[in-house]
Amino acid sequence: MSSLGADLWRRALRVMPGGVNSPVRSFRSVDSTPFFVGRGEGPFLCDTDGRRYVDYVLSWGPLILGHAPPPVVEAVRLQLERGTSYGAPTEGEVELAERITRLMPAVEMVRLVNSGTEATMSALRVARAATGRDAVLKFSGCYHGHTDAFLVAAGSGVATLGLPDSPGVTRGAASDTMVVPFNDLDAVADALRERGDAVAAVFVEPVAGNAGLIEPLPGFLSGLRELTWRHGALLVFDEVMTGFRVALGGAQARYGVEPDLTTLGKVIGGGLPVGAYGGRRELMERVAPAGPVYQAGTLSGNPLATAAGNAQLAWLEEHDPYAGLEVVARRVALGIATAIRTVGLAAAGTAVGSMMGVFFRGEAPRSFEQAQDSDVRAFRRFHSAMLDRGVFLAPSPFEAGFVSTVHGGAEVDLTLAAAREAAEHVAREMR
Ligand SMILES: *Cc1c(COP(=O)(O)O)cnc(C)c1O
Repeated sequence: MSSLGADLWRRALRVMPGGVNSPVRSFRSVDSTPFFVGRGEGPFLCDTDGRRYVDYVLSWGPLILGHAPPPVVEAVRLQLERGTSYGAPTEGEVELAERITRLMPAVEMVRLVNSGTEATMSALRVARAATGRDAVLKFSGCYHGHTDAFLVAAGSGVATLGLPDSPGVTRGAASDTMVVPFNDLDAVADALRERGDAVAAVFVEPVAGNAGLIEPLPGFLSGLRELTWRHGALLVFDEVMTGFRVALGGAQARYGVEPDLTTLGKVIGGGLPVGAYGGRRELMERVAPAGPVYQAGTLSGNPLATAAGNAQLAWLEEHDPYAGLEVVARRVALGIATAIRTVGLAAAGTAVGSMMGVFFRGEAPRSFEQAQDSDVRAFRRFHSAMLDRGVFLAPSPFEAGFVSTVHGGAEVDLTLAAAREAAEHVAREMR
């Protein structure tokens, strides 16, 4: 191998842990090594060796308008010429905060941060301050970033590497975290009956996207609303992935359930580093300097990031593309599942808004426990066969896929043709 990508990989392995800056990029969970990106163009990624892939990873969610969409590029270019960071207030921050609070009525006030991890970490601090309680209840397979309190049964990257907990997370931090299965209201009720007066917050991905894609069962989210009210715990929707992905107002609009606090990231940054947390005014007024809960950031509300985020959200607000995105996501997910079933392997596809999931099992799972019971070997082979045919699916069986507004009929046709070939290839290999 003497390609530029192979050379970069050798250099990367010498100077970065595992060769990457985020574990899921390493392709370890598909027993492979990653390509290096040269550029993104609309629905495509082009690698450094001149190969082109239809991209269903889209930077793991942020790029709902595809790569380098003109309105975002133009907004960033204009800002770039005026400076990249000031450490002083800007109009872009006010605009982004106003836009988020307008589109998500449960978010009355919002604080911008730099990542989803920072958003969930800070929301938990606010919840603990507001309730005077320490414990947090989460769901297995839900990922809320990599802070200690949440690195328990945390799905995707952690799951595929076989590290249910991480060394370095203290027993103390983990012991404040309770974990129950997604979509299991009885388990939530039991946990809250037992330790309810210690629980500051129930954190949930309202549509689980870090365990593959798992839809909430009817009544699950409203049941959480009811139970948290009863036990005096706050309900936090972690919409870092689902926010402005499954509907303009996020999962809370789609399912009609209002959380106390909401965390955001990914889409609201238009591909630049951003996170946000927000909620009821009375809760957010506890955050410094309005209140005593300390949280700060040198680059928070960064002008390039707010320019990109404002441009992307403005486009989404104007066009409300979610019904069309869901049609495309459904065609891709169900089409891939059909191709796999056609060769005699088990497969199920699901889509919610612009998110999609394909599972190598007979039925779409309702929990991470069910998702794990899938044919991971077949997935690995399929992933690699799709890559060979110019389609980039997330390199893990426990990740959602994404479509953008520039994934059109031609890309879908190419994908489904590749899926039929890849499925036959996998069936031959596994015979
Ligand atoms: C991606 C993600 C996070 C973490 O966001 P980062 O920006 O990677 O820190 C948190 N919660 C959910 C639901 C996510 O999908």
